[in-house]
Amino acid sequence: MDTDEKKIKPPPSIFVRGLLDFAALRTILINSVGINNFFVKSTSKNLKIQSINSDTYRSIIKYLKESKAECHIFQVQEDKSFRIVVRNLHPSTPTVDIGIAIQEIGYTVRSVMNVLHKTTKSKLPIFFVDLEPAKINKDIFHLNSILNTKIQIEELYKRRDIIQCTNCQEYGHSKTYCAYPSRCVRCNFNHSTLACNKTNDQPPVCVICGGDHTANYRGCQVHKNLQKLQHDKSISNNKFNKKVTLIIVIL
Ligand SMILES: [Zn+2]
Ligand SMILES: [Zn+2]
Ligand SMILES: [Zn+2]
Repeated sequence: MDTDEKKIKPPPSIFVRGLLDFAALRTILINSVGINNFFVKSTSKNLKIQSINSDTYRSIIKYLKESKAECHIFQVQEDKSFRIVVRNLHPSTPTVDIGIAIQEIGYTVRSVMNVLHKTTKSKLPIFFVDLEPAKINKDIFHLNSILNTKIQIEELYKRRDIIQCTNCQEYGHSKTYCAYPSRCVRCNFNHSTLACNKTNDQPPVCVICGGDHTANYRGCQVHKNLQKLQHDKSISNNKFNKKVTLIIVIL
């Protein structure tokens, strides 16, 4: 395997909200981790801090926690596998045989899965193959036969649902990494959902848009707008790619 495939990933970004004095924060960070070990970027919503290594990252997190700063951190993703769709193999083909056949050509296979029909659950001549991340993976689209079968290989596009925090109800991060004040999913008060004493005959109030639904309602206009934005983005990213498949997995 290429050595540059195993590059050490940078630590997750830290997002700080409601900062009043950047100069003061910068001085503190310089004094505690050193001037060359972090960089920041401000948007109208928050300040993003990127640390250069995990020691710096831990020191910054420790400082922010002690000073009770409002911040959230993006989850580190494990090495994502490279998923392809293989068509035209007979549904009875053992997944092990497919794995070995692809492995023999020089790819590292993580798993092989047969796709079932959505309603009848019958086996389809379609297989999902997950490859370990590697530069050569993109060459696999030239492969047109394995196991005496003329096959077609396509990319798989996932449409992920937008993540929502169950602590502060905001989109884009999860509860585990949230240090914002709790907000209720049922009414628009700043308390945790467990502490809510709204009765069932009172209508819910969405803390995101003010509408009469709970904050995790998928039909909330804010959620719908974000979903559309993400969908349009993935379409424009793939626009120039000829091998577009119509399989969409909703997670
Ligand atoms: Zn949150
Ligand atoms: Zn409440
Ligand atoms: Zn809403």
